[in-house]
Amino acid sequence: MGWTDRQQRMLGAMGLRLWAPAPAAEPAGAPSAEAVLADVVHVSPVVAPALAPAPAAPHRSAARPTAPVGAAQAVAAALPQRPNAPEGEREAAIAAMDWPALREAVAACQACALCQGRTQTVFGVGHIQAHWMIVGEAPGENEDLQGEPFVGAAGQLLDAMLRALKLSRLEGSSAAQVYIANTLKCRPPRNRNPQPDELAQCEPYLKRQIALVQPKVILAMGKFAIQQLLGTDEAVGRLRGRVHQYQGVPVVVTYHPAYLLRQLSEKAKAWDDLKLAQRVYEKAIS
Ligand code: SF4
Repeated sequence: MGWTDRQQRMLGAMGLRLWAPAPAAEPAGAPSAEAVLADVVHVSPVVAPALAPAPAAPHRSAARPTAPVGAAQAVAAALPQRPNAPEGEREAAIAAMDWPALREAVAACQACALCQGRTQTVFGVGHIQAHWMIVGEAPGENEDLQGEPFVGAAGQLLDAMLRALKLSRLEGSSAAQVYIANTLKCRPPRNRNPQPDELAQCEPYLKRQIALVQPKVILAMGKFAIQQLLGTDEAVGRLRGRVHQYQGVPVVVTYHPAYLLRQLSEKAKAWDDLKLAQRVYEKAIS
């Protein structure tokens, strides 16, 4: 059986070696997906957390709307941020927000105890009308420092996976640039697992992000992202290979890139998940 050029690139990005000829060359000056992956695999767990915080990139302005002023700040300030706010009041306020108000509300949020240990909130990045949306779990140390989801070694692997699909977090049209958001916007201390009350308090933000982006497909990466979107605690392995739904948007689940870095043998399954997501997307736009 022969592989198409695109399939070869996707396999290469996932670190799967083929008998077939090498994938087509990347644009001049750009590292190949395999080269990026090789770098990722060899990043030392000691070195990775020491990466210096990166300045905000101007080309990400689509995901970082102009700082809110006036009405947007007033909306954020008026939002009930305290735990146990009257049921539905806070969710309704968030569900009505535009991008600037939502960003400001997250930045000011004190709805759960995670606000106490954060360096900054991690809102999201990418095209605000992206066809593809990536949902991750909770910020780690690098994300907390840089204010961006999926940085460090796991972020490099995600970028390689996206590049194999001809997608990018950095630039492009709504079809080519993804939007990436985490389930939790603040880092849990010592990277512990998110607690149910933290997930519940943060869920309205992700829900509103998805409503604003209106993606054609969501790729949910990791146990807690999947739990949040699908409302189930079934294992990732049991949920893979099927198309789920969140608010009418098809959802494909897969392993978190950080897990793939520890379990390299699972990359073939992640490759299958990407192929499924690609088929779902192609069907959605046909
Ligand atoms: S994790 Fe979410 S709900 Fe908790 S303080 Fe941060 S933004 Fe607010």
